[in-house]
Amino acid sequence: MNQVFIGIGSNQNHPHFRVQRAFRQINRIHKTRLIKKSSLYETVPLGPKFQPNFINAVVEIETTLSPNNLLKELQLLEKNHNRKKTKRWGPRSLDLDILIYEQVIMDTEKLTIPHPGLEYREFVLIPLYEITSYGYKVPKYGNINKLLKLFFIEESFVYHHDYSNTHQYINWKDIKKSYHH
Ligand code: ATP
Ligand code: MG
Ligand code: MG
Repeated sequence: MNQVFIGIGSNQNHPHFRVQRAFRQINRIHKTRLIKKSSLYETVPLGPKFQPNFINAVVEIETTLSPNNLLKELQLLEKNHNRKKTKRWGPRSLDLDILIYEQVIMDTEKLTIPHPGLEYREFVLIPLYEITSYGYKVPKYGNINKLLKLFFIEESFVYHHDYSNTHQYINWKDIKKSYHH
């Protein structure tokens, strides 16, 4: 069994429902099961502005699929959500990225692991932090606490989305305080 973390993002057509549907669909991929899921986070888009905010989450899975076969399955799911090929970082109904696959470090045309940008993207680091233990070591980049401190930008606009009360947004700064107790 391989421990893998997947980053999920959506900003089209009811993104919070899509992300939750993706949780269930990932669990149904053959030779794969869902172990942990993060909360949903509402985040301001990277790249092109004037597009809706994203809902992001990270899940931990166990799989016996190879990195390439897992990528194929995730791309099928993206298609299943009617994702149209648009510009990179543009609006999309579902984005599934392999963030971490065991201790694998690879860089091929189709697949780079750990996922590029992981080390400074708050919308990845924060949910990843939520579901890993304190001091979790990201392959290639090291301790997640350090990554968060290094790349934490004060003005950033990352919210914890509490779906038991859809109107409640908690700023990342407050989560950070509670995580570091
Ligand atoms: P970013 O990769 O910066 O988050 P994106 O998710 O918008 O941007 P996509 O359009 O989803 O980019 O993917 C472009 C290509 O990235 C895919 O065709 C895939 O082959 C490649 N890719 C490379 N590494 C990975 C990875 N770890 N997980 C998913 N796709 C990857
Ligand atoms: Mg992506
Ligand atoms: Mg992608």
